[in-house]
Amino acid sequence: MDDRSGSYEHYVVDDRTDDNHLESNGAAKSPLDVGSMDSLSAQHPTHILNGFNCPNAFTQKREHATEQEENGRLAKLSGAVRTILECIGEDTSREGLLRTPERYAKALLFFAKGYEEDLGGIVNGAIFHENHDELVIVKDIEIFSLCEHHLVPFTGKIHIGYIPNGRVIGLSKLVRIAEMFSRRLQVQERLTKQVATALSEILQPQGVAIVVEATHLCMRMRGVEKTTTITTTSSMLGSMRSNAKAREEFFNLLKLT
Ligand SMILES: [Zn+2]
Repeated sequence: MDDRSGSYEHYVVDDRTDDNHLESNGAAKSPLDVGSMDSLSAQHPTHILNGFNCPNAFTQKREHATEQEENGRLAKLSGAVRTILECIGEDTSREGLLRTPERYAKALLFFAKGYEEDLGGIVNGAIFHENHDELVIVKDIEIFSLCEHHLVPFTGKIHIGYIPNGRVIGLSKLVRIAEMFSRRLQVQERLTKQVATALSEILQPQGVAIVVEATHLCMRMRGVEKTTTITTTSSMLGSMRSNAKAREEFFNLLKLT
């Protein structure tokens, strides 16, 4: 324990109840020096930048776009939506559709807003030394994602569990990490794995367990048209993979079997 340990509990408790309060306090609230992408990367040199945050040049372009570039993107996307409407057999001059291209373009950018975020920005100092070594679970986090094969939504819940190894993260950050990855084009399996791997690399915990339960509109509205099917995926890392008891405790607490 170092001389900052006295404030850990306070910080953690605050973060679990009011994330904004924490963020508004700036540097004073950062028990660990992991507030920036640079320091995060320095601690975990193999991770984040190459893997999750900047999948390609287009992602970086979007995250760092100027206002002018954003306007250009919106105009280009609106034009593409107009083309889609024409291709499905619609009259784009019809009154009800006049503003639809721009409206849908904005909606799509919102659906995929996870490309504008990165892990360093989200974590932003909210990692704390804490000797807690019992399972931490945040369950029933709602997710809205887009299937990358059909560009239609899949929605559901993600359950996140981890066993700390000297470091914990503000609970609201778990929600935001899930949000960042789900607000990108995804397949459910990869989304599950990405959240697990990100947590593993950020916290280096004893174990991580992620479960995602979702329904896919591409299954409900087309193809097999199974309207009640729920797809469940999981990713277990570290002791959550190797220790059956830890895994059992996680599933018991989720009330899943
Ligand atoms: Zn699909």
